[in-house]
Amino acid sequence: MSNRVYIFDTTLRDGEQSPGVSLNVKEKLEIARQLARLGVDIIEAGFPITSPGDFEAVKTIAREVRGVTVAGLARTNFTDIDKAWEAVRHADQPRIHTFIATSDIHLKHKLRLSRDQVVEAAVAGVKRAKSYTRDVEFSAEDASRSDPDFLCRVLEAAIEAGATTINVPDTVGYATPDEFAEFIKYIMNRVKGIEKVVLSVHCHDDLGMAVANSLAAILAGARQVEGAINGIGERAGNASIEEIVMALYTRRDRYGLETGINTEEIYRTSKLVSKLTGMDIQPNKAVVGKNAFAHESGIHQDGVLKERTTYEIMNPTMVGIAHSNLVLGKHSGRHAFRSRLVELGYSLSEDELNKAFARFKDLADRKKEITDQDLEAIVENEIRKVPATYELSYLHISSGTTVVPTATVGLTRGEELLEEAACGNGPVDAICKAVDKITGYSCRLVSWGINAITGGKDALGEVTLRIAENNKERLYMGRGISTDILEASARAYINAVNKMIYEQKNPDM
Ligand SMILES: [Zn+2]
Repeated sequence: MSNRVYIFDTTLRDGEQSPGVSLNVKEKLEIARQLARLGVDIIEAGFPITSPGDFEAVKTIAREVRGVTVAGLARTNFTDIDKAWEAVRHADQPRIHTFIATSDIHLKHKLRLSRDQVVEAAVAGVKRAKSYTRDVEFSAEDASRSDPDFLCRVLEAAIEAGATTINVPDTVGYATPDEFAEFIKYIMNRVKGIEKVVLSVHCHDDLGMAVANSLAAILAGARQVEGAINGIGERAGNASIEEIVMALYTRRDRYGLETGINTEEIYRTSKLVSKLTGMDIQPNKAVVGKNAFAHESGIHQDGVLKERTTYEIMNPTMVGIAHSNLVLGKHSGRHAFRSRLVELGYSLSEDELNKAFARFKDLADRKKEITDQDLEAIVENEIRKVPATYELSYLHISSGTTVVPTATVGLTRGEELLEEAACGNGPVDAICKAVDKITGYSCRLVSWGINAITGGKDALGEVTLRIAENNKERLYMGRGISTDILEASARAYINAVNKMIYEQKNPDM
């Protein structure tokens, strides 16, 4: 058996199904490019039939991201499969990933199909996909709760029909590691033709065992694992790719297996996904959490200073966490600024660089030390955003315990300066209302959160919020940074409104 484990990334499909997350085409493309740099083998770019936006995203990624397999998800019906093919066909290596549920619960309550009908649908779907491409993955949804004999029958039929990868998902995160390993072994022993295909697993984290289950399956013979960056996804999420990869690497003595992942890109990928999805990473998250390499106890600190391996099993540089911290300040020039950005891996256009530099100068007036994290925040929050219809010109707030919070906001639209004032039940509410008066939209604030990007009293605060137009469901996420949380809120709100306007003007985004 091969000692190579294929990494199938579903951040853009299952991950994007995380509650509250919706990415536009541009954001998905940016994540896909980074996934390719990370070295994943397969990018599942979306579920093309579900919406024109999803279709467009998969198609764009297939065309633009080279050197990687791009998969599109489809149910077994021909409409789904044809659409998936249309979206992935221009990829270097296109894959159609088709699925149908095999558990009795799903057959009875969701599909209302007999077992024979499911086998028939699976075979027809795989054959249809196979008529387009040689690379066809078949998934038996809810496999871990399916009758093993029936599951084996479906998998065998799918292989015979031409599937080249067979995926066994623990769709609802119900399996335990020992049980799942046995299950995989059983399939390996029972299913005819299984040795000719790649066996894959797709685990969910409802009981916190997605990574453990994936690793158990690998030991039992699975050679493709599906997962998402930061473990995002439906409900409690998918198996976290960075954890699986670092477990295989750190414990290669035990697993003896390899992946194609360039581990030094892990941290950057994790941060990009967190920024663009608006899903924060818990500080104690394995591998990529803020505290993953922090040592608090004096005994530990002393140990690490004497010899890092006393308390560290992974070297932070292995996952791409840079050590340099203090970099720039008030007196740093444009040249130093640009070269630091290049070192951090950003290539900005002249126009973007000018904007970023202006924000940097503005920040340097208020904050003494500008760290790499600050620079990343400036670039990711302020520069890489959709074309802005409105930009913040100034903000004035009056607030306190005995006054009605009032905001006066000045926005520019092109050359024009537009000004309005509004009262609210808090200063953030007042800001939103004043912005709405200018833009003519009426939005509700669905969520609002703040994070300190770096430590210290002059820390840069990052506000992430979500808005929706009144009477509409679609959410738009906005981010803004500043040392002043009200200004950060205003910037985030305007960012979200700009995204909304841009999407309404460009429905394909
Ligand atoms: Zn899933």
